[in-house]
Amino acid sequence: MGRIEIENISLAFKQGTREFKALDGVNAVIEDGEFVCVIGPSGCGKSTLLSVLEGLTVPDAGRVLIDNVPVNGTGPERAVVFQQYTLFPWMSAKQNVIFGMKQVLKDLSASQYEEQAEAFLIRVGLSGVSDKLPGQLSGGMQQRVAIARALAVSPQILLMDEPFGAIDAKTRVSLQQLLLELWGADERKKTVVFVTHDIDEALLLSDKIIFMKPGVISEMIPVGLPRPRNKDGQLLDSEEYRRLRAILVSKFYQDVTEHIGGKEVVL
Ligand code: ADP
Ligand code: MG
Repeated sequence: MGRIEIENISLAFKQGTREFKALDGVNAVIEDGEFVCVIGPSGCGKSTLLSVLEGLTVPDAGRVLIDNVPVNGTGPERAVVFQQYTLFPWMSAKQNVIFGMKQVLKDLSASQYEEQAEAFLIRVGLSGVSDKLPGQLSGGMQQRVAIARALAVSPQILLMDEPFGAIDAKTRVSLQQLLLELWGADERKKTVVFVTHDIDEALLLSDKIIFMKPGVISEMIPVGLPRPRNKDGQLLDSEEYRRLRAILVSKFYQDVTEHIGGKEVVL
């Protein structure tokens, strides 16, 4: 299972004698198998929240429950993919995936690690690159390896922090599609918490959008668009897509404008 309850999470960063509240009473429930996008202006606490869900950052107050069990550190049912490429540069693509597997799956034979890592690389659309180093792969391919590494431990929860943020627009579309296919093909869908700046990405991917403004969740918006979704289908032209998009755009700018006191902002 992978139901996440976020209960009253608060966290302040200390800067000298001053405190800065990055999270200030965040509450949310993410259902098992749900694909949730977290959206909001830069600096509003998205990455901090994800780090709390991962278990790397301990909040000052509140708690996270996964299937009713309080989170206490990282755990094998959660895997992460970040924006910056986090592969070990001195390890091949396959070795990177195996490294991830070894953290969780302790008692496979050497050939089982190899076979399973190969299989996951193929699932993310990579063949023939197992022995390449990350530096020999494009950014998009590196993120595919990072996704393979995350999936290879069979996590029930996938935490993704702007994973396609540094990827060019065309490659990004194929990675979004890949992620939707991997998620949709799973009989027991993973719970995905996906941070993004991009409203269209959130609408394409999610069942629900969590809107943050600095330190808090300002709104949760259900996305009832039919699946499967893709960007070249009827999705973008549908009335419901346009209606949701209009709500999100106005909300985004309203929050940002409130935050910066009406000054012009670059997103
Ligand atoms: P987002 O991911 O939404 O852009 P973050 O969660 O990274 O926002 O950061 C939220 C706020 O907390 C920002 O103002 C950021 O500068 C601050 N912050 C994040 N990490 C630290 C840290 N380690 N020390 C001090 N301040 C931090
Ligand atoms: Mg961030």
